[in-house]
Formats: sequence, structure tokens, C-alpha cells
Amino acid sequence: MSRFWSKTVKGLTPYTPGEQPKITNLIKLNTNENPYGPSLKAIAAIASANNDSLRLYPPPDSEDLKAAIATTYALNPNQVFVGNGSDEVLAHIFQALLKHESPLLFPDITYSFYPVYCKLYDILFKLIPLDSGFSIQIEDFLNAGKNGGIIFPNPNAPTGLALPLAAIRTLLEKNQNSVVVIDEAYVDFGTESATTLITEFDNLIVTHSLSKSRALAGLRIGYAMGHHELIEGLERVKNSFNSYPIDRLASAGGIAAIKDEVYLKQISLKIQSSREKLVLALQKLGFNTIPSTANFIFTHHPIHDGKFLYQALRDKNILVRHFNLPRIDQYLRITVGTDQECETLLLVLKEILSSTN
Ligand SMILES: *Cc1c(COP(=O)(O)O)cnc(C)c1O
Repeated sequence: MSRFWSKTVKGLTPYTPGEQPKITNLIKLNTNENPYGPSLKAIAAIASANNDSLRLYPPPDSEDLKAAIATTYALNPNQVFVGNGSDEVLAHIFQALLKHESPLLFPDITYSFYPVYCKLYDILFKLIPLDSGFSIQIEDFLNAGKNGGIIFPNPNAPTGLALPLAAIRTLLEKNQNSVVVIDEAYVDFGTESATTLITEFDNLIVTHSLSKSRALAGLRIGYAMGHHELIEGLERVKNSFNSYPIDRLASAGGIAAIKDEVYLKQISLKIQSSREKLVLALQKLGFNTIPSTANFIFTHHPIHDGKFLYQALRDKNILVRHFNLPRIDQYLRITVGTDQECETLLLVLKEILSSTN
């Protein structure tokens, strides 16, 4: 604490991301990174953008990247906003579209960056509890009184549970007076995307990330899609903050990655198949796993303590995520790795369980 800190800074509780340890012989299943590399086309595009033109600022409006995204989702480029990771895109959304007199609504168990942005931008919020099976109940959001906006990931994090498109449609139909943000960071692993509703609802924003399904967490690209007037609001905030959030290398890699839908499909299907195998094998060890449509699972053991299992795995160089929070402190969030990594995880878990019985 410094006496020079502003009142805002003194009051902040920053988000803590999963650790990125320097040790190399680690099985890293804690931050939902993709176990497969990015599209080779993206790597080649980054390599060829690595030239003398780096002395020039990148195009401030990222027209080419927006055009590639717009084509992929059958939208107009003016319905697309891009940023330095979807976390930055979300930050601008909170400031531009979710700060109002009535509270912003989000689930009690969800992406823990949301309350951090509320604190940063001084946004009132109200938590809507998930039901006992950890599902989002649309009715609970609709019955919560006047709201200044609604946000949740679909599938939700860290549960992995998704709502069907019909539920999102109902929410939009019955909540037309505030912005609804669907954070689709994990949508490519088996959830229906709400992007198809964008032309129908002028209060819908859908956010995507290249970090998970496109295996480009290190490149930092995220985007939002929605009505052009919502996007224009985001551009106003962005252009009051940083004119060039997407650098030349990121733009080149991002465009190539977005266009390589064949590779996206290939690795996403591989991860989905590994996920189903992992869930079944964990079940044989006594674990209960929430049905996931993400590249991670949320699981707990009826006998063995969540924090203990997290630590025991860490001692054996396997990193998973444990949240010391009400309702979920018995759970582990485990990223779906390669089949090989999943097998090692299962072997080590088996050892831990049998040595503590
Ligand atoms: C990973 C994640 C993000 C952020 O992704 P970046 O594009 O890497 O900033 C956003 N929302 C949720 C729910 C996530 O899990």
C-alpha cells in the first residue's frame, strides 16, 4: 500500500488467474488452455507478418480481422468489436453497456472476473444463485427485479453446464430493456451459439475468445458481436483507452486462425472425445462430474476433500484448479488435456485415493 494510491486502487481486489509456473515437467490442467497447438496457418501468418512493417502502427480499427470474423458468423463488420483478449473486450462492455442505476445480474457461481470489473468501474451488481444442480434458471433472473444488464458464460464457468439456445431466446424475449451478454469463451466445445440471435435482438452481445478453442491464449485476441449501436458504444470506450489493442502479429495470426475452421473442428472434436472418456473413468473412481460442454470438467469426490486432492495432485506435478469459495470448495476444475495427460491424471488420482483410504 502506498500513500500515493488513489481511492479506487486501494479498494480493488484484482482477479487471480490460474498459475503459470516456470517448472516444465508439469501437467498443466489449470487454466483451460488447449493442449494442441494453434493452426499451422496461424503460425505461418505470424511468421510472415514479422517484418519491417512492424515499425508502423497497426490499423487502429482492425478492419481485416473484423471482416474475417464477420464472414465466419454471417454478420456485418460493424457488428464486430475486437480487443486484446476477451477479458479486455468484457472490461469495455462493463464500462460502456452495463453501468446503470439498476444492478447488473450474474450467477453466484461464475467467471470470477465479473465482480472485479464491477469494483473497477463502480457497477452495482446482484448475484443470482444457481439452482442446487448448478444450473442457471432463466426465471430467477427474470424475477430478480429491475436490472441494468445480465451477463453469464454459456457454457458457464467453472461448472461447464450450458443452457440451450431456446432458454437464451426466452431470456432475450422477456428482458428487452437491458443488455444481455453471453460470454461464449467455451462455445466451440459443444454448445449452441447465440450469435444466430444477434440480428433479432438489439440488446444481445456475444463474446468469443481465441484463447481456448483456437489454442491462441498467448496471442491475446477476443471479440464481441452484437447490434451495431452496441458495438459503436464499445468503440467509443476503446478509442478513449487504447487506439491499437491488436498488434500486427496478433492480427495476422488471428485472421488465419479464424479462417481455419477445419482445424478448429478437428481439435475441438478430439477434446470432446477425451472429455467423455475422462468423465467415465473418473466415475469409476467414485467422482461425480457435472455434465460439461466445455474443455474442462467440474468434479468432486464424495469422500475425499477438494483442497486435499488439489494439493496431492500438485505434489505429483499435476496442476488443476481449486476454488476456496462457498458451494464449490469440494470441487476440482480440470482442463481436458491430451488423452495421454488424462491417463496420467487418472493413474495419479487412483494412487492418491488408494493411499488415503
Ligand atoms: C478464459 C475466459 C475468458 C477470457 O479469455 P481471454 O480471451 O483469454 O481474455 C473470458 N470468459 C471466460 C468465461 C473465460 O473462461
